[in-house]
Amino acid sequence: MTIHPNSIEARDKAYHLHSYTNARALERDGALVIERGEGIHVYDNAGKQYIEGMAGLWSVGVGFGESRLVEAAAKQMAKLPYYHTFTARTHSPSVELAEKLIEIAPVPMSKAYFTNSGSEANDTAMKIVWYRSNALGKPDKKKIISRTKGYHGVTIASASLTGLPNNHRSFDLPIARVLHTSCPHYRAFKTEGETEAQFVERCAKDLEDLILKQGPDTVAAFIGEPVMGAGGVIVPPAGYWEAIQKVLKKYDVLFIADEVICGFGRTGEMFGATTYALQPDMMTLSKQISSSYQPISALLINENVYQPLADESAKIGTFGHGVTAAGHPVAAAVALENIRIIEERDLVGNVRSLSPKFLARLKSIADHPLVIEYRGVGLIGAFELVPREGFAAGQLGPKLFGYLMEEGVISRAIGDSIAFCPPMIITDEQVDDMFDKVERGLEKFA
Ligand code: PLP
Repeated sequence: MTIHPNSIEARDKAYHLHSYTNARALERDGALVIERGEGIHVYDNAGKQYIEGMAGLWSVGVGFGESRLVEAAAKQMAKLPYYHTFTARTHSPSVELAEKLIEIAPVPMSKAYFTNSGSEANDTAMKIVWYRSNALGKPDKKKIISRTKGYHGVTIASASLTGLPNNHRSFDLPIARVLHTSCPHYRAFKTEGETEAQFVERCAKDLEDLILKQGPDTVAAFIGEPVMGAGGVIVPPAGYWEAIQKVLKKYDVLFIADEVICGFGRTGEMFGATTYALQPDMMTLSKQISSSYQPISALLINENVYQPLADESAKIGTFGHGVTAAGHPVAAAVALENIRIIEERDLVGNVRSLSPKFLARLKSIADHPLVIEYRGVGLIGAFELVPREGFAAGQLGPKLFGYLMEEGVISRAIGDSIAFCPPMIITDEQVDDMFDKVERGLEKFA
């Protein structure tokens, strides 16, 4: 890419530190400037069109350029651009959104608590778990278990919960009280001759062994994504969640479902919890809650969590937690309108009806000699490349990603897996268009 002095690319290099980017590579190569979006497409500043096969960061469910969301934001901006929810203040958008989330929650929930990102929602979940244990007079019951390859965010607490090395390395993480158990990726982690059912049994046993080793009186909660996203789209094997939940119940360990990616239709149900018959005590939501038109996240808690929290706050005099923009009226108004759109246009139904084609196209890519496996559910999926001589693990994915960009498809390279999570408004023809381009890119890469 030629970078002109004073161009947006040059100024980006000069002033902007990017998330999840090799800073030295950026100094050399610059960043891609995306200028606008429409439907499932985005356009760079040279006018090139891309299918946003990742819906941004697994998040723009209703697609780009949705005027109803723009109008909802403008209307709320004009009426009340900001107010907070500290010290017993409130406003209609946050109340209406809380009510809506409790109404559509897949299991009975009591209260919605608002934050601005998935990381903060998970951070808050962890603090509430500790607060609750103190309220219940169990000060030692504080450890939280997550999984290798799980992704829960980047704050000190949520990055600790995340089970990916790059989120820990050089950050001096994870913190104490966070433990990791096994990842449910059967193909990658099965032992010689182990059946899927045996693998599931072993995952549940690993969890139980960890709880027993630590002492059940010290383990407060478990957090997991119904389907792991950033870890590589790891779809749990049959029976996995049933077996895990049995262990959690047995040892009185709270279950936090991280629905930041799965929530609002991605798996073909409104929540991943429904797809996998989960019974969480707490749920964290973000991304497709507002299709990322505004930064907002929510934590739902059930009575079992709320009652001790309320008692403790009465004892102390306050629930001493909250961020300035929690339940921001503009973000809440946009989220509400976004959920209305998802419901009115039956986007969850669209995910369900297009899923067979989406998965069939991934399956047919998996027949390619360079591909070892495909994984997916609803409209989230990935295929993984066969290791190739001369390439270290994790080098092939980014290389193929580049070929797909040339074809006009934005995917995500996760190690040697290529992930897809297109806007839920995608049509049958557009699914074909996306995978036709992917196949062309794969042929050139081969
Ligand atoms: N949880 C999951 C499952 C996620 O995928 C993400 C982000 O990708 C997060 C939490 C963190 O959300 P955020 O990036 O908004 O902090």
